[in-house]
Formats: sequence, C-alpha cells, structure tokens
Amino acid sequence: MFCPRCKKGYQEGVETCTSCGADLIDQLPREAPDHSSGDEFVEVFSTYHQDDISFLKSIFDGEDIPYFFQGESSIMLIAAGAYARLMVKAEDEQRAKEILQDLGFVANSEIQS
Ligand SMILES: [Zn+2]
Repeated sequence: MFCPRCKKGYQEGVETCTSCGADLIDQLPREAPDHSSGDEFVEVFSTYHQDDISFLKSIFDGEDIPYFFQGESSIMLIAAGAYARLMVKAEDEQRAKEILQDLGFVANSEIQS
C-alpha cells in the first residue's frame, strides 16, 4: 500500500497514512512524463550572416526566450552560404516571430517555412 501524497510504502492492511492521513492506494500512479526535456522546437528564422546571429542572440537572451541556432557551430559552413536556423519552443513561436517582425528580419506576410 502506498500514500499518494507522501509516496510512502505501507504494509497490506494499513488503510491510512500515518504521516498525512490520506487514504492509501494499492499502487502509485506512474510518474508523469517530464515535459521539460521533450519540448518541441520550431524554426522561426534562418540566416547565414554571423552578425545577425550575434544580434538575435542578444535580443532573445534579453527576451528570456529559450532558443538555439541549429548549424551555428558550423561557422565555416555559414561563411560558405549555409544557413543557421533559429529554433525556439513551439509555445514561443508566435512571440519570436513578432519580435523578428519588429526588428525587420521578416516581412509581415506569412512566413515561409
Ligand atoms: Zn501520507
């Protein structure tokens, strides 16, 4: 038997938790999946300008929006014309796009994906 609040284990036959008085249950429910590590990131902007990357980093750091640049480590590739892609959480996508619009990085029309 287990207390659903304290997660304490008790012997069979015990019906209430001695610590908090909650009714004991046969089995603890499975732990809820940890969503903090399973966030979905979406691309909101791509650039091959190192200056843009540095600038956007300072902006998004200030906005406290979690983000990362995919491909950023490949500075040589960026220099050669490959894109670094700005990734933010799906829940922050709209806010990030509004910031990018305010900064003039993207047009007000629908953003091509
Ligand atoms: Zn308890």
